[in-house]
Amino acid sequence: MTQQPDTKSDRPRDPSLTFVGSPLDREATRRRDRDWLEARLADTSSRFLPLWKLQPLVKHGASRALAWARRDFFADLEPAPEPVLLGSLGDVAHFAVDVSAAARPEESFGIADVARFEDLRGVVPLLPQDEAAISAQARALVDWHARHGFCAACGGGTRAVCGGAHRVCTECQAEHFPRTDPVAIAIVVQGPRCLLGRQRGWPASMYSALAGFVEAGESLEEALRREVKEEAGVEVGDVRYWRSQPWPFPSSLMLGCIADALSEAIRIDPAELEDARWFTREEIAAALAGAAGPLMVPPPFSIAHQLLRAWIGGAIT
Ligand SMILES: [Zn+2]
Repeated sequence: MTQQPDTKSDRPRDPSLTFVGSPLDREATRRRDRDWLEARLADTSSRFLPLWKLQPLVKHGASRALAWARRDFFADLEPAPEPVLLGSLGDVAHFAVDVSAAARPEESFGIADVARFEDLRGVVPLLPQDEAAISAQARALVDWHARHGFCAACGGGTRAVCGGAHRVCTECQAEHFPRTDPVAIAIVVQGPRCLLGRQRGWPASMYSALAGFVEAGESLEEALRREVKEEAGVEVGDVRYWRSQPWPFPSSLMLGCIADALSEAIRIDPAELEDARWFTREEIAAALAGAAGPLMVPPPFSIAHQLLRAWIGGAIT
């Protein structure tokens, strides 16, 4: 499979990468204007995506889609949730709203016949690409706000500003921005073979690309070499960046790479991995095609799957 080249737009429309390609304009300038925000919150055309315990509201039926609500949907909820701005599509503002305060949400909102709150990992393969991207932004933002009510500098309370683009401490005025954690993830190759690992508890025979968080003071390449050496004992040389994918569980940015192995012998760290192996192109191609066999690869909505597909298809080397 060949990949579409990225456009110069800041809204890449890569059909293969789930959680990429939101159609919303994040309104980086107008969200600073409190009057504009208040007007959008009051506007009856504005749309609100309810999330309950980080699960977005999704319509039932054959074609699944996010279930957007009007503001009166959550008007009776106590304590009153504070919507966060996701952006605009045309003139219509889109917000996410945390309705976790509802005890039995589908019943209390009277929506059980048309929609339900669903785990994003489970439902995302069924959502249109643009809605998957919007739901990633919504989940990451709502989760961050729920966990950052207090200032990390002084312990004072914080309040959301700029429509929830960040928070400010009410005591010391420190600004706190939603975190995004960079994760280096790579398929490590040597000729026609690729190194994959598996963690304890994964489905039987599932192996994936090795990955790890980039630590303070590390480059992407350094993080990758360290992780692969730590987890599998394999030395890595050249690292080539491919593409990135937001991964809202809770707030990662997966930096997808292909890397060259400089050594073959595998020595796993059992604290990190249950096993690591070299797989052939044929084994990986069969797994991508869904064939039952010694290898199962992660689902298509993961960048690990798409890295493998790009390598097998010759799009990356
Ligand atoms: Zn503070």
